[in-house]
Amino acid sequence: MTPEEFRRHGHALIDFIADTRTRIAAGEFPVMAQVKPGALRAQLPKTAPRQGEPFENVLADLEELILPACTHFLDPRFFGFFPGANLLPGVLGDLASTGLGQLGLSWQSSPALTELEEVVTDWLRHASGLSDAWQGVLQDTASSATLVALICARERATAYSAARGGLQSHSARLVMYASKQAHSSVEKAATLAGFGRDTIRLIDTDDNFALRAELLAAAIRADQAAGLQPCAMVATTGTTGTTALDPVAACAALAREHGLWLHVDAAMAGSAMLLPECRWMWEGVEGADSIVTNPHKWLGVSFDCSAYFVRDPEHLIRVMSTNPSYLQTAADGQVRNYRDWGIPLGRRMRALKLWFVLREQGIEAIQARLRRDIANAKWLAEQVDAAASSHWRRLAPVPLQTVCLRHEPPGLSGDALDTHTLAWARRLNESGQMYVTPSLLAGRWMVRVSIGSSATERHHVEAAWQQMQREVKN
Ligand code: PLP
Repeated sequence: MTPEEFRRHGHALIDFIADTRTRIAAGEFPVMAQVKPGALRAQLPKTAPRQGEPFENVLADLEELILPACTHFLDPRFFGFFPGANLLPGVLGDLASTGLGQLGLSWQSSPALTELEEVVTDWLRHASGLSDAWQGVLQDTASSATLVALICARERATAYSAARGGLQSHSARLVMYASKQAHSSVEKAATLAGFGRDTIRLIDTDDNFALRAELLAAAIRADQAAGLQPCAMVATTGTTGTTALDPVAACAALAREHGLWLHVDAAMAGSAMLLPECRWMWEGVEGADSIVTNPHKWLGVSFDCSAYFVRDPEHLIRVMSTNPSYLQTAADGQVRNYRDWGIPLGRRMRALKLWFVLREQGIEAIQARLRRDIANAKWLAEQVDAAASSHWRRLAPVPLQTVCLRHEPPGLSGDALDTHTLAWARRLNESGQMYVTPSLLAGRWMVRVSIGSSATERHHVEAAWQQMQREVKN
């Protein structure tokens, strides 16, 4: 494809994306893909073509084959998982990033990639109300950032055992702590960092599904008494189940007292920290060692874009640095080499899409959208509370944009109630008219209604509430 052909096909592709976005916002597609498993695969050849095809054919297949097999997170009636607000300037940022073909291996391999990332993570830090003690790096996902955090925690706790006999040479068994409501990526990261089922403590939560600090303190003391070494703690600001808020300040005090690494998983709620009125939610965060937030969720940057902030990059570099001769340059020592701040060597120019979104939107427009979503969630929570006599129950506080609810008809409990919940949620999703995520809370199924698609307005939430009330009667 020549640059001229690229221009022609690129224009066609941009038209396709713009048209599709308009159609999605108008509710023209089912929200959940209405395809059977294997349906797309069956329509595609088993091997790549031996000769190139006209690019028009590829674009035609994008519309005819790929699009029907897409579930639409961007649909205003999408209330599943957490929002991937995915604003269009970020799409252009991704295009520019791959179009320029930049590859971060060292500062020298793309000074623009490195320095833009320094600037834009600092913009995000500042906009989130974090002090200038923090420095940021962009990673693919919160899962990776949490893994890096726990590896750093392990190394600090073992006086950098990786430089000697590794974790196996360390005399004491290391323990990490998180709440029972922590995201599955936390347990996965802990396991990958060398903790095991016996040394990962998932602490009970209170009635609001937030970690109970007094149980954390007791667990740390019990482990110390048993000769184990408390090492790391993950506090979540905005859990996946209910957006619960762990007591970060109390966790930070315990971390300080007992020498634990405190990592704050604000993958979801990190976006809300652009709102000064929400910052109480992670009060005490300045006492943490690391933080992750996901601009690729509610903030509006396309996947993948996770911001990882650390107080002490030297520690990160000591653990992550590799310096083979072919990557060494004269600028080393004066510049940041982000390969030492995470796991991959090669890095793409993720900063561009964050930069595009922040510049095109401005902080105030983002704040207005976040406030709109919070107000919509509050409205829905009020409706659910007011419908108690119709057997609706809200199951958790709504500090942000996710409402957890259940319809509990008289006489239904236990497994029968679960069957009812899963059935109406499934009917909703299969209708293609809206999308919700059922999830287990305290051992029983409930439905999460997570608001925050950038096109979702109050009337979409009103319609969703009407539809849920109709659906439970079917
Ligand atoms: N932490 C929390 C609280 C989450 O809600 C999620 C995903 O929803 C994650 C971590 C994992 O995020 P990622 O997909 O960026 O790894």
